[in-house]
Amino acid sequence: MAATKEYDYLIVGSGLYGATFAYFARKVGKKCLVIDKRDHSGGNIFCRDEEGINVHAYGAHIFHTNDTGIWNFVNRFATFNRYTNSPVALSKGKLYNLPFNMNTFHQLWGVVTPEEAKQKIEEQTAPYAGKEPANLEEQALHLVGPDVYNALIREYTEKQWGKSARELPAFIIRRLPLRFTYDNNYFTDKYQGIPAGGYNKITEGLLEGIEVRLQQDFLADRDYFKSLADTVVYTGQLDAYFDFREGQLEYRSLRFEHKRLQTDNFQGNAVVNYSDAAVPYTRIIEHKHFEFGTQPHTVITYEYPETWTPGKECYYPVNDDTNMAIFRIYDQLAQAEEGVLFGGRLAEYRYYDMHQVIGSAMTAAGRIFGKDILDRH
Ligand code: FAD
Ligand code: UDP
Repeated sequence: MAATKEYDYLIVGSGLYGATFAYFARKVGKKCLVIDKRDHSGGNIFCRDEEGINVHAYGAHIFHTNDTGIWNFVNRFATFNRYTNSPVALSKGKLYNLPFNMNTFHQLWGVVTPEEAKQKIEEQTAPYAGKEPANLEEQALHLVGPDVYNALIREYTEKQWGKSARELPAFIIRRLPLRFTYDNNYFTDKYQGIPAGGYNKITEGLLEGIEVRLQQDFLADRDYFKSLADTVVYTGQLDAYFDFREGQLEYRSLRFEHKRLQTDNFQGNAVVNYSDAAVPYTRIIEHKHFEFGTQPHTVITYEYPETWTPGKECYYPVNDDTNMAIFRIYDQLAQAEEGVLFGGRLAEYRYYDMHQVIGSAMTAAGRIFGKDILDRH
Protein backbone atom coordinates (compact mmCIF):
# COMPACT_ATOMS: atom_id res chain seq x y z
CA MET A 1 0.00 0.00 0.00
CA ALA A 2 1.33 3.44 -0.90
CA ALA A 3 2.41 5.56 2.06
CA THR A 4 0.03 8.37 2.91
CA LYS A 5 1.42 11.72 1.93
CA GLU A 6 1.64 14.56 4.41
CA TYR A 7 -0.73 16.90 2.56
CA ASP A 8 -3.79 16.41 0.39
CA TYR A 9 -2.92 19.46 -1.72
CA LEU A 10 0.30 21.24 -2.56
CA ILE A 11 -0.69 24.61 -3.95
CA VAL A 12 1.97 26.33 -6.00
CA GLY A 13 1.34 30.07 -5.84
CA SER A 14 -0.34 32.14 -3.12
CA GLY A 15 -2.06 34.54 -5.55
CA LEU A 16 -5.83 34.79 -5.82
CA TYR A 17 -6.21 31.46 -7.60
CA GLY A 18 -4.08 29.46 -5.17
CA ALA A 19 -5.54 31.20 -2.12
CA THR A 20 -9.16 30.75 -3.26
CA PHE A 21 -8.67 27.08 -4.05
CA ALA A 22 -6.86 26.52 -0.71
CA TYR A 23 -9.73 28.23 1.13
CA PHE A 24 -12.34 25.79 -0.19
CA ALA A 25 -10.06 22.76 0.17
CA ARG A 26 -9.54 23.63 3.84
CA LYS A 27 -13.27 24.08 4.34
CA VAL A 28 -13.86 20.48 3.29
CA GLY A 29 -11.16 19.28 5.66
CA LYS A 30 -8.28 18.89 3.20
CA LYS A 31 -4.79 19.53 4.46
CA CYS A 32 -3.03 22.08 2.24
CA LEU A 33 0.46 23.43 1.88
CA VAL A 34 0.79 26.64 -0.13
CA ILE A 35 4.21 27.58 -1.47
CA ASP A 36 5.34 30.71 -3.26
CA LYS A 37 8.66 31.64 -4.76
CA ARG A 38 8.26 35.28 -3.72
CA ASP A 39 8.96 36.56 -0.20
CA HIS A 40 5.29 37.44 0.36
CA SER A 41 1.90 35.89 -0.29
CA GLY A 42 -0.88 37.38 -2.45
CA GLY A 43 0.69 37.20 -5.92
CA ASN A 44 0.13 40.28 -8.05
CA ILE A 45 -2.50 41.83 -5.80
CA PHE A 46 -0.02 42.21 -2.94
CA CYS A 47 0.02 45.65 -1.27
CA ARG A 48 2.86 47.17 0.71
CA ASP A 49 2.00 49.57 3.52
CA GLU A 50 3.93 52.84 3.17
CA GLU A 51 3.07 54.85 6.28
CA GLY A 52 -0.65 54.28 5.92
CA ILE A 53 -0.80 54.20 2.12
CA ASN A 54 -1.49 50.80 0.56
CA VAL A 55 0.86 50.65 -2.41
CA HIS A 56 -0.29 48.22 -5.12
CA ALA A 57 3.14 46.71 -5.55
CA TYR A 58 2.43 45.11 -8.97
CA GLY A 59 0.30 47.80 -10.58
CA ALA A 60 -3.10 49.39 -9.96
CA HIS A 61 -5.81 46.90 -9.00
CA ILE A 62 -9.48 47.83 -9.03
CA PHE A 63 -11.96 45.14 -8.15
CA HIS A 64 -15.06 44.95 -10.35
CA THR A 65 -17.59 42.25 -11.11
CA ASN A 66 -21.13 41.60 -12.28
CA ASP A 67 -21.33 38.40 -10.29
CA THR A 68 -23.21 38.84 -7.00
CA GLY A 69 -21.83 35.57 -5.59
CA ILE A 70 -18.23 36.64 -6.20
CA TRP A 71 -18.92 40.13 -4.82
CA ASN A 72 -20.46 38.69 -1.63
CA PHE A 73 -17.55 36.28 -1.34
CA VAL A 74 -14.81 38.96 -1.40
CA ASN A 75 -16.84 41.16 0.93
CA ARG A 76 -16.45 38.51 3.61
CA PHE A 77 -12.76 39.27 3.82
CA ALA A 78 -12.70 43.05 3.45
CA THR A 79 -14.96 46.08 3.40
CA PHE A 80 -14.98 47.65 -0.03
CA ASN A 81 -15.10 51.42 -0.48
CA ARG A 82 -16.98 53.31 -3.21
CA TYR A 83 -13.94 53.95 -5.43
CA THR A 84 -14.89 54.17 -9.11
CA ASN A 85 -12.06 53.99 -11.59
CA SER A 86 -12.05 57.14 -13.77
CA PRO A 87 -8.63 57.47 -15.36
CA VAL A 88 -7.62 60.48 -17.40
CA ALA A 89 -5.25 60.30 -20.37
CA LEU A 90 -2.67 62.86 -21.41
CA SER A 91 -2.23 62.97 -25.18
CA LYS A 92 -0.12 65.60 -26.98
CA GLY A 93 -0.45 67.98 -24.02
CA LYS A 94 -4.25 67.64 -23.70
CA LEU A 95 -6.14 65.80 -20.98
CA TYR A 96 -9.02 63.46 -21.90
CA ASN A 97 -11.45 61.44 -19.84
CA LEU A 98 -11.59 57.68 -20.20
CA PRO A 99 -13.26 55.42 -21.11
CA PHE A 100 -14.59 56.80 -24.40
CA ASN A 101 -17.65 58.79 -23.36
CA MET A 102 -19.37 62.16 -23.83
CA ASN A 103 -16.62 63.96 -21.89
CA THR A 104 -13.97 62.51 -24.23
CA PHE A 105 -16.00 63.40 -27.34
CA HIS A 106 -16.55 66.95 -26.06
CA GLN A 107 -12.83 67.33 -25.37
CA LEU A 108 -11.95 65.97 -28.84
CA TRP A 109 -14.58 67.56 -31.06
CA GLY A 110 -16.48 70.12 -28.95
CA VAL A 111 -19.73 68.17 -29.36
CA VAL A 112 -22.25 68.55 -26.54
CA THR A 113 -25.21 66.24 -27.18
CA PRO A 114 -25.20 62.46 -27.62
CA GLU A 115 -26.77 62.97 -31.05
CA GLU A 116 -23.87 65.16 -32.19
CA ALA A 117 -21.36 62.66 -30.78
CA LYS A 118 -23.06 59.68 -32.45
CA GLN A 119 -23.07 61.51 -35.78
CA LYS A 120 -19.37 62.24 -35.43
CA ILE A 121 -18.59 58.61 -34.51
CA GLU A 122 -20.68 57.42 -37.46
CA GLU A 123 -18.73 59.67 -39.84
CA GLN A 124 -15.46 58.46 -38.35
CA THR A 125 -16.29 54.75 -38.44
CA ALA A 126 -18.18 54.62 -41.77
CA PRO A 127 -15.10 53.69 -43.84
CA TYR A 128 -14.46 50.72 -41.53
CA ALA A 129 -18.03 49.42 -41.20
CA GLY A 130 -19.19 46.07 -42.56
CA LYS A 131 -15.90 44.24 -42.17
CA GLU A 132 -15.14 41.87 -39.31
CA PRO A 133 -12.12 43.40 -37.47
CA ALA A 134 -9.14 41.07 -37.70
CA ASN A 135 -6.84 42.86 -35.25
CA LEU A 136 -6.76 45.56 -32.57
CA GLU A 137 -6.29 48.44 -35.03
CA GLU A 138 -9.23 47.37 -37.20
CA GLN A 139 -11.36 46.81 -34.09
CA ALA A 140 -10.57 50.30 -32.74
CA LEU A 141 -11.25 52.02 -36.09
CA HIS A 142 -14.48 50.05 -36.41
CA LEU A 143 -15.57 51.09 -32.91
CA VAL A 144 -14.45 54.73 -32.55
CA GLY A 145 -12.71 55.80 -35.79
CA PRO A 146 -9.33 57.44 -36.44
CA ASP A 147 -9.50 60.55 -34.19
CA VAL A 148 -9.93 58.62 -30.93
CA TYR A 149 -7.64 55.86 -32.20
CA ASN A 150 -4.82 58.27 -33.01
CA ALA A 151 -5.16 60.39 -29.87
CA LEU A 152 -5.75 57.73 -27.23
CA ILE A 153 -5.19 54.19 -28.48
CA ARG A 154 -2.49 53.58 -31.07
CA GLU A 155 0.63 54.87 -29.34
CA TYR A 156 -0.46 53.69 -25.87
CA THR A 157 -1.23 50.22 -27.18
CA GLU A 158 1.97 49.90 -29.15
CA LYS A 159 4.14 50.83 -26.19
CA GLN A 160 2.09 48.67 -23.81
CA TRP A 161 2.50 45.58 -25.97
CA GLY A 162 5.71 46.36 -27.89
CA LYS A 163 3.96 45.39 -31.13
CA SER A 164 2.04 47.05 -33.92
CA ALA A 165 -1.70 47.31 -33.17
CA ARG A 166 -2.16 45.35 -36.41
CA GLU A 167 -0.47 42.33 -34.83
CA LEU A 168 -2.56 42.35 -31.66
CA PRO A 169 -5.85 40.52 -31.00
CA ALA A 170 -9.03 42.61 -31.28
CA PHE A 171 -10.43 41.48 -27.90
CA ILE A 172 -7.91 43.60 -25.95
CA ILE A 173 -9.58 46.87 -26.95
CA ARG A 174 -13.07 45.49 -26.37
CA ARG A 175 -12.21 45.60 -22.63
CA LEU A 176 -12.88 49.35 -22.81
CA PRO A 177 -16.47 50.63 -22.88
CA LEU A 178 -17.84 53.19 -25.36
CA ARG A 179 -20.82 55.17 -24.18
CA PHE A 180 -22.83 58.27 -25.01
CA THR A 181 -23.34 59.54 -21.47
CA TYR A 182 -21.15 61.81 -19.35
CA ASP A 183 -20.01 58.83 -17.30
CA ASN A 184 -16.28 58.38 -16.65
CA ASN A 185 -16.62 54.98 -14.95
CA TYR A 186 -13.98 52.76 -16.59
CA PHE A 187 -16.05 49.66 -15.93
CA THR A 188 -19.67 48.73 -16.61
CA ASP A 189 -19.96 46.14 -13.84
CA LYS A 190 -22.60 46.24 -11.12
CA TYR A 191 -20.03 46.14 -8.31
CA GLN A 192 -16.73 47.97 -7.94
CA GLY A 193 -14.41 49.16 -5.19
CA ILE A 194 -11.13 48.89 -3.33
CA PRO A 195 -10.80 46.81 -0.17
CA ALA A 196 -10.24 49.10 2.82
CA GLY A 197 -6.82 48.22 4.20
CA GLY A 198 -5.57 46.81 0.90
CA TYR A 199 -5.82 43.54 -1.00
CA ASN A 200 -3.72 41.57 1.49
CA LYS A 201 -6.83 41.42 3.67
CA ILE A 202 -8.41 39.20 1.04
CA THR A 203 -5.51 36.83 0.37
CA GLU A 204 -4.57 36.67 4.07
CA GLY A 205 -8.22 35.98 4.93
CA LEU A 206 -8.41 33.22 2.33
CA LEU A 207 -5.18 31.67 3.61
CA GLU A 208 -6.03 31.88 7.30
CA GLY A 209 -5.22 28.61 9.07
CA ILE A 210 -3.31 27.26 6.06
CA GLU A 211 0.42 26.59 6.09
CA VAL A 212 2.27 28.89 3.69
CA ARG A 213 5.97 28.58 2.89
CA LEU A 214 7.60 31.49 1.08
CA GLN A 215 10.66 31.65 -1.16
CA GLN A 216 10.09 28.09 -2.35
CA ASP A 217 10.31 27.50 -6.10
CA PHE A 218 8.35 24.42 -7.11
CA LEU A 219 10.28 24.03 -10.34
CA ALA A 220 13.63 24.03 -8.54
CA ASP A 221 12.75 20.78 -6.71
CA ARG A 222 9.56 19.37 -8.14
CA ASP A 223 10.18 15.76 -7.08
CA TYR A 224 10.45 16.80 -3.46
CA PHE A 225 7.38 19.03 -3.59
CA LYS A 226 5.32 16.41 -5.43
CA SER A 227 6.26 13.86 -2.80
CA LEU A 228 4.54 15.98 -0.17
CA ALA A 229 0.97 15.86 -1.46
CA ASP A 230 -1.51 13.72 -3.37
CA THR A 231 -2.48 16.53 -5.72
CA VAL A 232 -0.69 19.64 -6.96
CA VAL A 233 -2.49 22.86 -7.85
CA TYR A 234 -0.10 24.76 -10.10
CA THR A 235 -0.61 28.49 -10.78
CA GLY A 236 2.77 29.31 -12.32
CA GLN A 237 3.83 29.57 -15.97
CA LEU A 238 2.35 26.73 -18.01
CA ASP A 239 5.25 26.40 -20.46
CA ALA A 240 7.81 26.42 -17.63
CA TYR A 241 6.04 23.46 -15.99
CA PHE A 242 6.67 21.45 -19.17
CA ASP A 243 10.28 22.69 -19.47
CA PHE A 244 9.36 24.76 -22.56
CA ARG A 245 9.38 21.55 -24.59
CA GLU A 246 6.78 22.81 -27.07
CA GLY A 247 8.30 26.29 -27.31
CA GLN A 248 8.06 29.47 -25.28
CA LEU A 249 4.80 31.28 -24.66
CA GLU A 250 5.16 35.02 -25.01
CA TYR A 251 4.39 37.44 -22.17
CA ARG A 252 4.63 41.16 -21.68
CA SER A 253 6.51 42.35 -18.65
CA LEU A 254 6.48 45.60 -16.69
CA ARG A 255 8.86 47.59 -14.55
CA PHE A 256 7.45 49.55 -11.62
CA GLU A 257 9.24 52.59 -10.28
CA HIS A 258 7.80 53.62 -6.91
CA LYS A 259 8.47 57.09 -5.47
CA ARG A 260 7.54 58.59 -2.12
CA LEU A 261 6.96 62.33 -2.39
CA GLN A 262 6.50 64.94 0.30
CA THR A 263 3.31 66.36 -1.16
CA ASP A 264 -0.25 65.49 -0.24
CA ASN A 265 -1.53 65.36 -3.83
CA PHE A 266 0.69 64.77 -6.86
CA GLN A 267 -1.77 64.27 -9.73
CA GLY A 268 -5.30 64.53 -8.31
CA ASN A 269 -6.36 61.10 -9.56
CA ALA A 270 -5.37 57.50 -8.87
CA VAL A 271 -4.64 56.70 -12.54
CA VAL A 272 -3.25 59.01 -15.23
CA ASN A 273 -2.48 57.37 -18.58
CA TYR A 274 0.24 58.69 -20.88
CA SER A 275 -0.86 58.07 -24.45
CA ASP A 276 2.19 59.36 -26.33
CA ALA A 277 4.91 57.04 -27.62
CA ALA A 278 7.54 59.61 -26.61
CA VAL A 279 6.75 59.04 -22.90
CA PRO A 280 8.29 55.70 -21.91
CA TYR A 281 5.75 54.78 -19.23
CA THR A 282 2.05 54.02 -19.81
CA ARG A 283 0.63 55.31 -16.55
CA ILE A 284 1.35 56.91 -13.21
CA ILE A 285 -0.56 55.57 -10.23
CA GLU A 286 -1.07 57.68 -7.10
CA HIS A 287 -2.09 55.03 -4.60
CA LYS A 288 -3.62 57.15 -1.84
CA HIS A 289 -6.54 58.15 -4.09
CA PHE A 290 -7.77 54.54 -4.17
CA GLU A 291 -8.69 54.97 -0.51
CA PHE A 292 -9.27 58.76 -0.44
CA GLY A 293 -6.13 59.17 1.69
CA THR A 294 -5.38 62.43 3.47
CA GLN A 295 -1.77 61.76 4.49
CA PRO A 296 0.72 64.63 4.14
CA HIS A 297 2.90 62.47 1.85
CA THR A 298 2.13 60.44 -1.27
CA VAL A 299 3.45 57.41 -3.16
CA ILE A 300 3.39 57.25 -6.95
CA THR A 301 4.31 54.46 -9.34
CA TYR A 302 5.51 54.78 -12.91
CA GLU A 303 4.56 51.74 -14.99
CA TYR A 304 7.03 50.97 -17.78
CA PRO A 305 6.14 48.19 -20.25
CA GLU A 306 9.04 45.86 -20.92
CA THR A 307 10.01 43.02 -23.19
CA TRP A 308 9.70 39.76 -21.32
CA THR A 309 12.83 37.63 -21.06
CA PRO A 310 13.25 34.51 -18.91
CA GLY A 311 13.58 35.44 -15.25
CA LYS A 312 11.35 38.52 -15.49
CA GLU A 313 7.80 38.55 -14.14
CA CYS A 314 5.15 37.54 -16.68
CA TYR A 315 2.44 40.15 -16.30
CA TYR A 316 0.36 39.78 -19.45
CA PRO A 317 -0.17 36.76 -21.71
CA VAL A 318 0.10 37.72 -25.37
CA ASN A 319 -2.97 35.90 -26.71
CA ASP A 320 -2.30 36.25 -30.44
CA ASP A 321 -2.74 33.38 -32.93
CA THR A 322 0.87 32.19 -32.74
CA ASN A 323 0.89 31.97 -28.95
CA MET A 324 -2.59 30.47 -28.76
CA ALA A 325 -1.48 27.66 -31.08
CA ILE A 326 1.40 26.87 -28.69
CA PHE A 327 -0.92 27.23 -25.70
CA ARG A 328 -3.34 24.65 -27.07
CA ILE A 329 -0.56 22.05 -27.19
CA TYR A 330 0.43 22.78 -23.60
CA ASP A 331 -3.20 22.75 -22.57
CA GLN A 332 -3.54 19.19 -23.86
CA LEU A 333 -0.43 18.16 -21.95
CA ALA A 334 -1.87 19.82 -18.84
CA GLN A 335 -5.14 17.94 -19.15
CA ALA A 336 -3.26 14.66 -19.47
CA GLU A 337 -1.00 15.37 -16.48
CA GLU A 338 -2.21 13.18 -13.62
CA GLY A 339 -2.54 14.62 -10.14
CA VAL A 340 -2.03 18.24 -11.22
CA LEU A 341 -4.62 20.97 -11.60
CA PHE A 342 -3.52 24.03 -13.59
CA GLY A 343 -5.21 27.37 -12.83
CA GLY A 344 -4.88 31.14 -12.81
CA ARG A 345 -3.61 33.83 -15.14
CA LEU A 346 -0.29 32.14 -15.89
CA ALA A 347 -1.24 28.47 -15.98
CA GLU A 348 -4.41 29.11 -18.03
CA TYR A 349 -2.56 31.75 -20.11
CA ARG A 350 -5.55 34.08 -19.97
CA TYR A 351 -5.88 37.84 -19.54
CA TYR A 352 -7.98 37.31 -16.42
CA ASP A 353 -9.13 40.03 -14.06
CA MET A 354 -9.36 39.27 -10.33
CA HIS A 355 -13.03 38.30 -10.32
CA GLN A 356 -12.40 35.92 -13.22
CA VAL A 357 -9.52 34.24 -11.38
CA ILE A 358 -11.73 33.78 -8.32
CA GLY A 359 -14.48 32.43 -10.59
CA SER A 360 -12.10 29.98 -12.21
CA ALA A 361 -10.81 28.72 -8.82
CA MET A 362 -14.40 28.41 -7.53
CA THR A 363 -15.40 26.40 -10.60
CA ALA A 364 -12.48 24.01 -10.01
CA ALA A 365 -13.28 23.72 -6.29
CA GLY A 366 -16.97 23.12 -7.05
CA ARG A 367 -16.08 20.42 -9.58
CA ILE A 368 -13.75 18.62 -7.15
CA PHE A 369 -15.49 19.11 -3.80
CA GLY A 370 -19.11 19.44 -4.95
CA LYS A 371 -20.92 22.61 -5.99
CA ASP A 372 -22.70 23.00 -2.68
CA ILE A 373 -19.45 23.94 -0.90
CA LEU A 374 -19.54 27.25 -2.79
CA ASP A 375 -22.87 28.10 -1.16
CA ARG A 376 -22.01 26.71 2.24
CA HIS A 377 -18.71 28.60 2.58
P1 FAD B 1 -0.61 35.65 -9.58
O1 FAD B 1 -1.20 36.72 -8.79
O2 FAD B 1 0.39 35.91 -10.62
O3 FAD B 1 -0.10 34.51 -8.58
C1 FAD B 1 0.72 33.45 -8.98
C2 FAD B 1 1.68 33.18 -7.83
O4 FAD B 1 2.40 31.98 -8.13
C3 FAD B 1 2.72 34.27 -7.64
O5 FAD B 1 2.73 34.70 -6.29
C4 FAD B 1 4.04 33.61 -8.02
O6 FAD B 1 5.13 34.07 -7.26
C5 FAD B 1 3.73 32.15 -7.71
N1 FAD B 1 4.55 31.21 -8.50
C6 FAD B 1 4.68 31.16 -9.86
N2 FAD B 1 5.51 30.17 -10.21
C7 FAD B 1 5.91 29.58 -9.06
C8 FAD B 1 6.79 28.51 -8.76
N3 FAD B 1 7.45 27.85 -9.73
N4 FAD B 1 6.98 28.16 -7.46
C9 FAD B 1 6.35 28.83 -6.47
N5 FAD B 1 5.51 29.85 -6.69
C10 FAD B 1 5.30 30.23 -7.96
N6 FAD B 1 -7.43 42.60 -12.25
C11 FAD B 1 -8.54 43.28 -11.89
O7 FAD B 1 -9.58 42.67 -11.61
N7 FAD B 1 -8.54 44.65 -11.82
C12 FAD B 1 -7.44 45.39 -12.09
O8 FAD B 1 -7.47 46.63 -12.01
C13 FAD B 1 -6.25 44.70 -12.47
N8 FAD B 1 -5.13 45.39 -12.75
C14 FAD B 1 -4.00 44.72 -13.11
C15 FAD B 1 -2.85 45.46 -13.38
C16 FAD B 1 -1.69 44.82 -13.74
C17 FAD B 1 -0.46 45.63 -14.03
C18 FAD B 1 -1.66 43.40 -13.84
C19 FAD B 1 -0.40 42.69 -14.25
C20 FAD B 1 -2.80 42.65 -13.57
C21 FAD B 1 -3.98 43.30 -13.20
N9 FAD B 1 -5.14 42.59 -12.88
C22 FAD B 1 -6.28 43.27 -12.53
C23 FAD B 1 -5.18 41.11 -12.95
C24 FAD B 1 -4.87 40.42 -11.61
O9 FAD B 1 -3.59 40.80 -11.16
C25 FAD B 1 -4.90 38.91 -11.82
O10 FAD B 1 -6.12 38.50 -12.38
C26 FAD B 1 -4.69 38.08 -10.55
O11 FAD B 1 -3.83 38.68 -9.62
C27 FAD B 1 -4.13 36.73 -10.96
O12 FAD B 1 -4.06 35.84 -9.86
P2 FAD B 1 -3.31 34.45 -10.06
O13 FAD B 1 -3.38 33.74 -8.75
O14 FAD B 1 -3.78 33.78 -11.27
O15 FAD B 1 -1.79 34.84 -10.40
N1 UDP C 1 -5.77 51.20 -23.99
C1 UDP C 1 -5.46 52.29 -24.78
N2 UDP C 1 -5.37 53.52 -24.21
C2 UDP C 1 -5.57 53.73 -22.89
C3 UDP C 1 -5.91 52.62 -22.08
C4 UDP C 1 -5.99 51.37 -22.66
O1 UDP C 1 -5.25 52.14 -25.97
O2 UDP C 1 -5.47 54.89 -22.42
C5 UDP C 1 -5.83 49.88 -24.63
C6 UDP C 1 -4.48 49.15 -24.56
O3 UDP C 1 -4.33 48.37 -25.72
C7 UDP C 1 -4.65 48.27 -23.34
C8 UDP C 1 -6.12 47.87 -23.48
O4 UDP C 1 -6.76 49.04 -23.97
O5 UDP C 1 -3.76 47.17 -23.37
C9 UDP C 1 -6.79 47.40 -22.21
O6 UDP C 1 -6.70 48.44 -21.26
P1 UDP C 1 -6.82 48.17 -19.70
O7 UDP C 1 -6.80 49.49 -19.01
O8 UDP C 1 -7.97 47.28 -19.48
O9 UDP C 1 -5.46 47.39 -19.43
P2 UDP C 1 -4.79 46.81 -18.11
O10 UDP C 1 -5.31 47.59 -16.94
O11 UDP C 1 -5.16 45.36 -18.09
O12 UDP C 1 -3.34 47.04 -18.37
